[in-house]
Amino acid sequence: MTEELFLSDSYLREFAARVIGLHGREVILDRTTFYPGGGGQPADKGSLGVGPIHASVVDVRREGSGIVHVLDNAIPDTVRTLHGELDWERRYAHMRYHTALHVLSGVIWKTFGARVAGGQMREVRARMDFSFPGEWTVDVVGEIERLTNEALAEGHPVKVYELSREEALKNADFIRTQANLVPERLKVVRIVEIEGIDAQADGGTHVANTREVGTLEITNHKSKGRQNKRVEFVLSKPVESALE
Ligand SMILES: [Zn+2]
Repeated sequence: MTEELFLSDSYLREFAARVIGLHGREVILDRTTFYPGGGGQPADKGSLGVGPIHASVVDVRREGSGIVHVLDNAIPDTVRTLHGELDWERRYAHMRYHTALHVLSGVIWKTFGARVAGGQMREVRARMDFSFPGEWTVDVVGEIERLTNEALAEGHPVKVYELSREEALKNADFIRTQANLVPERLKVVRIVEIEGIDAQADGGTHVANTREVGTLEITNHKSKGRQNKRVEFVLSKPVESALE
């Protein structure tokens, strides 16, 4: 069983943990801040080590109630504790892109009644697929970009909290996104809410305020069917003074 530190503090970059499983290049720890991937957000990278022993974390995955860190080289099986550190620049980019996807999703739902079908983020770009009921034009794409940037700049706080599965399912907003259907095994659902914009059942990592996302630019859009549309975008970092 691994305690998932990233769920309560997405800004935690370093941690110390006990080794509870070690098989060749794969390590399971009692706690970790490495995100194992899921919901369109890639698994984290970084390093684990103690004293002179050091290994890069090249992949992370969930296995039952444990989180497995895949290393670039095997560490001695006598190691009992490890210090972990994220590739923070990469993870923080995922947090900004992930939060941007929520805002985009809220905007297209509120303005156009379009439901998200899926999203994927990378360090330098992201894309979102959705089912768009109206006419798809360049003007519509421009409007989506403008409204999303307006919402980002408004500086909405991003709140994370838990609800019982029953309560969560009463709120249509939480199960609106087809990609985030709440699994039946979950008794408690983690909600990520951007006040006035979007609320989703979600296990990923996000920034604390939409202002940290910066500015979004839609770089490409595609019609993949009568209603299935895709937008691809990049983010520009916010100017430092905006974060004060
Ligand atoms: Zn999310």
